[in-house]
Amino acid sequence: MIRRCPESPDKGPIPIDNDVSRPREQCGVFAVYGDPRAVELTHYALYALQHRGQESAGIAASKDGAIRFHRGMGLVSEVFDRHILEDLGGSAGVTAAIGHVRYSTTGDTNLANAQPLKIRFIGGELALAHNGNLVNAGELRRELEEQGSIFQTTLDTEVIAHLVARKGGLPVVEAIGQSLSLCEGGYALVFLTPKAVMAARDPNGIRPLSLGRLGEAWVVASETCAFDTIGATFERDLDPGELLVIDDSGIKSMTFKRPGELRLCIFEYIYFARPDSDLRGLNVHAARKRLGRRLAQDFPVDADLVTGVPDSSISAASGYAEASGIPYEMGLIKNRYIGRTFIQPKQEMRDLGVHLKLNPLRSLVRGKRIVLVDDSIVRGTTSRHIVSLLRDAGAKEVHLRISSPPYRYPCHFGIDTRARSELIAAFKDPEEIERIVGADSLRYLSLDAMIEAVGCGRRDFCVSCFDGNYPVKIPEGVSKRMFEGPSGSPITR
Ligand code: AMP
Repeated sequence: MIRRCPESPDKGPIPIDNDVSRPREQCGVFAVYGDPRAVELTHYALYALQHRGQESAGIAASKDGAIRFHRGMGLVSEVFDRHILEDLGGSAGVTAAIGHVRYSTTGDTNLANAQPLKIRFIGGELALAHNGNLVNAGELRRELEEQGSIFQTTLDTEVIAHLVARKGGLPVVEAIGQSLSLCEGGYALVFLTPKAVMAARDPNGIRPLSLGRLGEAWVVASETCAFDTIGATFERDLDPGELLVIDDSGIKSMTFKRPGELRLCIFEYIYFARPDSDLRGLNVHAARKRLGRRLAQDFPVDADLVTGVPDSSISAASGYAEASGIPYEMGLIKNRYIGRTFIQPKQEMRDLGVHLKLNPLRSLVRGKRIVLVDDSIVRGTTSRHIVSLLRDAGAKEVHLRISSPPYRYPCHFGIDTRARSELIAAFKDPEEIERIVGADSLRYLSLDAMIEAVGCGRRDFCVSCFDGNYPVKIPEGVSKRMFEGPSGSPITR
């Protein structure tokens, strides 16, 4: 696994563009209350959220006053089969369930860290699933351990479970509300008890979470594309600091912490979310197209064709093509069947391996001046690799256009870009990056242009990965670790 940015074009082999060599994604959560197909619906919804995490998947369902759950490593299709779903209550009138897909942002990669987590405490049984990161998880965990808590996983989610369990004398909703009021960071959570489903969003709404309706039932999902998949309709986004409780008496909304400003992670628009999801009422594909159009206005170039890095950059590339009048072409073909199970070949196979996941359409790119649109450069490995693929296929010029600004600061809220030393733009100028990735020209959208293109104000988003202004105070120990340079020295830029 190659985790560092390349420092020069001739430093070692180009890493294969498999899931391991790229920055990792986060997680997706789903919940349903009040439908006898709860397990099946959750299963389908997890397919819709699969892009948010491919490392593990799990479903918890409440049946006969108890919670059953199943989790496993791998894709949703690998973790569940008919028997498992039936055992969870697929055909037995289970009406409430929660589900999770995970790519680790905290904690190790193993089954113990798969979610939902289930606990049994004085208040009964509780399952919970989580997308995001608590910035004060370390502090909270230490305090809990000092008071005798024993942890079984390295998950932030278990910290929340312990906090709730410690307040076991209270009604479970109160225990959850009080526990969440201690949690700082970006998070979207779903909870299941034998009698209710609950959902909560962090006080700045950094991570997305939406409420939908399916007949008489209520559903909650990280992204609205899950609603389309199961035939539900979108009701509204959860408010920052909101805790929803859904049970036989209906749906109740409460505020577990006074909300701060809504600061939705702008990277959801840029890269994470599926193009058919809506965030804050704006369709993700439409937002990406606007970013691409703006990129074309700000950084035009004479070229023969525009192509995007599949899949996340196709929308922005089509926006660039539309605004520039240069035709969009499918210059790169992605093999969709490698995914997580792809095993990194030996060193001598690397040259072949680079073509396994992405292959340029040779006849199309040969002799052409190409505008290559990508949504972001994080460590620079992908751009370097794709530019070289296009050149090897005979491209005359490759002009790289990025539909976001230089990614300079680590995310503390659920995106796995661990240390600043891993971010190429943290210590290289765009001109140097242009040289490293081997492009004829490289242009990034500016922060203001990006925000204008998406159509809201700067204060409506968390843009901390671009400007370093975190909407939540980051504890010193965490920020020190994340801000160390490649050799452990602080990066000052
Ligand atoms: P890198 O190779 O590290 O520069 O990664 C940038 C590429 O990965 C771009 O093509 C993005 O579409 C994609 N990307 C950006 N952020 C992430 C992420 N958190 N997880 C996986 N891929 C990402």
